[in-house]
Amino acid sequence: MYADGKISLVGPTAVTLIISIVKMEVAEFRKRGKEMVDYIADYLENIEKRNVYPDVEPGYLRALIPEVAPDEPETYEDVVKDIERVIMPGVTHWHSPYFYAYFPSANSFPALLADMLSGGIGCVGFSWAASPACTELETVVLDWLGKMLKLPEEFIAGTEGEGGGVIQGTASEATLVALLAARSRMVKRVQADHPELTEVHIMSKLVAYASNQAHSSVERAGLIGGVRMKKLPTDSKFAVRGEYLRKVIEEDKAAGLIPFFFCATLGTTPSCAFDRITELGPICNAEGIWMHIDAAYAGSSFICPEFRPLLDGVEFADSFNFNAHKWLLVNFDCSAMWVKKRADIIGAFKMDPLYLKHDHQESGLVTDYRHWQIPLGRRFRSLKLWFVLRMYGCQGLQQHIRKQVTLAKEFESLLLGDERFEICAEVVLGLVCFRLKGSNDLNEVLLKRINSSRRIHLVPCQLAGQFVLRLAVCARTTESRHIREAWTHITKLASELLRENQH
Ligand SMILES: *Cc1c(COP(=O)(O)O)cnc(C)c1O
Repeated sequence: MYADGKISLVGPTAVTLIISIVKMEVAEFRKRGKEMVDYIADYLENIEKRNVYPDVEPGYLRALIPEVAPDEPETYEDVVKDIERVIMPGVTHWHSPYFYAYFPSANSFPALLADMLSGGIGCVGFSWAASPACTELETVVLDWLGKMLKLPEEFIAGTEGEGGGVIQGTASEATLVALLAARSRMVKRVQADHPELTEVHIMSKLVAYASNQAHSSVERAGLIGGVRMKKLPTDSKFAVRGEYLRKVIEEDKAAGLIPFFFCATLGTTPSCAFDRITELGPICNAEGIWMHIDAAYAGSSFICPEFRPLLDGVEFADSFNFNAHKWLLVNFDCSAMWVKKRADIIGAFKMDPLYLKHDHQESGLVTDYRHWQIPLGRRFRSLKLWFVLRMYGCQGLQQHIRKQVTLAKEFESLLLGDERFEICAEVVLGLVCFRLKGSNDLNEVLLKRINSSRRIHLVPCQLAGQFVLRLAVCARTTESRHIREAWTHITKLASELLRENQH
């Protein structure tokens, strides 16, 4: 059809072709959409049959597809057949029950369907007027979720609250937003007493704090915010205590610095340790330091009454954040953040060009979420949270958390029965930190063999100078049999390794 080159592209044939694609669109979408749902269902139902960790080298994909985008349209079939050829060989299967690395990434069918709807509506909800449902649902479901966590009343928006919730993309963004708001609040406070001081001068004196176990995104927030960030020491349980913070604040104030921000971690990434916020919070409040709580992983568990005491002290915090996309069955991205005083965040970031203005004043009922975050644009992310909260109910979500904690406890008890291993941190939730008694080298080799077998996937961490293996219960479909299989596999590789080392 195109034998004579470009000329035929502007001829009648090409016009007919384009028109026919447009006419086909809705009908084809209906059909292909159903096929895609089937493909995803098959993928997730049979995920155990795939190797959890891919066997590819860097650059594998470039060799499988053309160097430039196609000039002429391809068919849907052409694209779809490349999913298994190009994509799947390079996927790490996070939802496999043999995946125990990092922390979980949530996945559930209600959330997947809601995300499809969000894509379909495709609105960009930067202000109330830009899509009232997008804004209002977010405010209301974050109130729901805040009440499930038994957050203090000040964090709940209601119709005229001063606080409220927002969905950020990630915990990293939540920490950064909190730090920038705290920075702006402190600069204004200092200038109120010392109008002669410039913002640049005050900023050069600011100092923020976090645990030496805090996530790397916290240190990064300090870098991006252009402020000093000091890492605080931790106790034998990897927790920051009040006295450590008090000591460094006194030293820093004596040196002319201005402490302004403390990021507490509840459920640290290496070992799921909990900073002592009941001690730390009152110190922050007395010093006018913004306390932000990063509970990215552990936060979901606080919906269970038996784990809620871990959140005691939240009443001292200015902001609190956790990732519903980690452990609450809401697909990435959905990082829930609450602040006590919305004016603190809005005050730091507000920009109001004419093209974004509308006739409704900011209040509990009317929120312009663009003032609460770094980007302008935002997706309709509350839909997936709404679907999940309604279809699982609080009880269903509690059940999910409890089941995964029980599985971690099961793995812990298997470890306790084998004296070649040691447990390196208290097992509080779904994470178990363990190692072979012996050198770091020995444990590094063990981990290498575990991961290169591709049967299960783990990542390590460093705790008190030791190389430690981390097993986090991740997939929603993980069962006791998978935990026992993982254990059998690990002990087999460990026995081989120890036998070789004897010779
Ligand atoms: C996972 C994790 C983060 C980072 O989460 P993102 O949403 O990817 O930014 C931050 N803090 C802690 C404690 C975490 O476990």
